[in-house]
Amino acid sequence: MADYKIVLLKGDGIGPEIVNQAVKVLDKASEKFNFTVEYDEALLGGCAIDATGVPLPDETVAKCKAADSVLLGAVGGPKWDNQPGNNRPEAGLLGIRGALGLFANLRPAVIFEPLKKASPIKDEIIGGSLDIMIVRELTGGIYFGKRGRTEVDGQPAAWDTEQYSVPEVERIARVAFDLAMKRNKKLTSVDKANVLESSRLWRETVTRISKEYPEVELNYMYVDNCAMQLVRNPGQFDVIVTSNIFGDILSDEASMISGSIGMLASASLSESKSGLYEPIHGSAPDIAGLGIANPLATILSVAMMLRYSLDQPKAADAIEAAVTKVLENNRTPDIYEEGTNKVTCEQMGDLVCEAL
Ligand code: ATP
Ligand code: MG
Repeated sequence: MADYKIVLLKGDGIGPEIVNQAVKVLDKASEKFNFTVEYDEALLGGCAIDATGVPLPDETVAKCKAADSVLLGAVGGPKWDNQPGNNRPEAGLLGIRGALGLFANLRPAVIFEPLKKASPIKDEIIGGSLDIMIVRELTGGIYFGKRGRTEVDGQPAAWDTEQYSVPEVERIARVAFDLAMKRNKKLTSVDKANVLESSRLWRETVTRISKEYPEVELNYMYVDNCAMQLVRNPGQFDVIVTSNIFGDILSDEASMISGSIGMLASASLSESKSGLYEPIHGSAPDIAGLGIANPLATILSVAMMLRYSLDQPKAADAIEAAVTKVLENNRTPDIYEEGTNKVTCEQMGDLVCEAL
């Protein structure tokens, strides 16, 4: 029996191309660091609709639940645009997140030294390098609260509710503090406690949990200020923890700091050790099948999987170092700069394996 069982959800568009490269790198890492991996594949998204009529077949849920982790490519594309809302590829994505109880979304915003020029933030503001981890609550808050339509003064009106319970805040806070302990022991909790009651409960709860982590330096920031500080002085942040809606907005903002959508990984974690790992970008139907997609976000998602679910931090570090090294001279078209080699998706995968 293999040490780890990984389910691959290759999905649609560039999904299969980029996952294949990431698997190659994971295989190489397993050789080098002496562990074994067994793979299974399952259908999610448009490919699942084509084969079974639904975006998230029961078989996929069962396989993912039994795995040590799941690696996802990307889902969706124009082919399925006319599907009804609850049968769209994206509904499969929300479905699998719910089925696996993934309440914590980790999104690193990193600037790789060789890609500094691609960042819209000036060198002198970035300073040395940039490595922020945003921890977003993923299954609560206003996106899951009660909502509806009503009438006010004879005019149509609408409402949404933001609600967080103490246990919901406690568990996401613990994920963030645990991460801070593994990194630089610095955590910023982002809320809007000057206005929102749910934010005041959030802040009280984070403060209470912080007593369990006396080594972590905790500070608080209002979300509007945080949005500004991410551009003004991103180097002040290490780990940020925040609610579903604030995390959605801030993590997209932070992703632009790093300059390329093809470079950013993500992890979604549950109460158990297993998680779902995927690039933050979509299925890029415009370049699917051309062999030019950047596989690095998916390869870096594998590094996160090794670090957070499989307890192989050395392998994770080695993959990240290999990526940085390869970037010095080699680029897929999305991050190409004059003076470097323009490489294909597959060549990029091979180069990372070699560097490993
Ligand atoms: P989704 O709704 O699934 O998030 P989207 O339309 O917002 O999809 P993407 O599919 O991420 O966006 O694509 C946005 C742009 O970025 C496209 O032009 C696409 O080709 C490009 N892109 C995305 N991922 C990559 C990648 N890995 N390598 C190269 N280009 C990419
Ligand atoms: Mg998008």
